[in-house]
Amino acid sequence: MAEESQQFYLDQLRARLEYYRELGIDGLKVLKPGSAQFPESSEAQAALAEPPLSPSSMTPKTPYPEPKVKFWEIREASPSLLALSSPIPGKQETLEEIRTDLGDCKRCKLCSTRTNIVFGAGDSKARLVFVGEGPGADEDLEGLPFVGRAGQLLTKIIEAIGLTRDQVYICNVVKCRPPNNRFPEPEEVATCSPFLLRQLESIRPVIICCLGAAAAHTILQTKVSIGRLRGRFHDCLGTKVMPTFHPSYLLRNPEAKRDVWEDMKKVRALLDQSAPSL
Ligand code: URA
Repeated sequence: MAEESQQFYLDQLRARLEYYRELGIDGLKVLKPGSAQFPESSEAQAALAEPPLSPSSMTPKTPYPEPKVKFWEIREASPSLLALSSPIPGKQETLEEIRTDLGDCKRCKLCSTRTNIVFGAGDSKARLVFVGEGPGADEDLEGLPFVGRAGQLLTKIIEAIGLTRDQVYICNVVKCRPPNNRFPEPEEVATCSPFLLRQLESIRPVIICCLGAAAAHTILQTKVSIGRLRGRFHDCLGTKVMPTFHPSYLLRNPEAKRDVWEDMKKVRALLDQSAPSL
């Protein structure tokens, strides 16, 4: 194996083991097919026999159907979202143009308590976008999303599926910190989320991963609890949306990391299916 790809697999192995340790798993038993303890069922055998570091091994057997309408065709598809969306119909904006339009935003009262606007960070052509709730204290100070404790956990989650933060895009429903990290108010979400929609239209990701209820409710326009939404793909005008628990929730409820891991395996599998190279 070439040295470079050996390093790639070692890095992936390290990230995966760190993620398992985060889950509370401190040891792994390696079973060989044919050994007495190797599971009987063919499904379990297949799961254990597949190389643990190959993301393509998570590819689902049934292909996902091609979406009929893409998220970025939102204007044509939904007149109600049209009103929320880009002010320049028919033009695909760049993230820079959207940031410029946001300016030194004073559109809602969050501007009076923020230090920095947290617009978003990552690859402007990312195939996977993570959407959180809103900046916390660390993000407010640095002007970057998910850089505090929850952010460190998000980084591990991203690395556990073989990606880096630079390969995805990370942003939030509201771009200014709600005081004392309170939930963003409906008015604040209504004012700020058009910018989020425009960012998503600009990036045109394959998957939007909603971290927590605020993101899932905003993107999917539902009030169903995150516990009931998570675990499967939803469709938002042709773009696959995976709601999962927010990393801050995981810091308080580490047992829920197993659920997030299940969700992220589905995300990885769909990414592999839509273009195996990333
Ligand atoms: N929580 C969020 O929802 N977003 C951040 O950027 C940081 C913490």
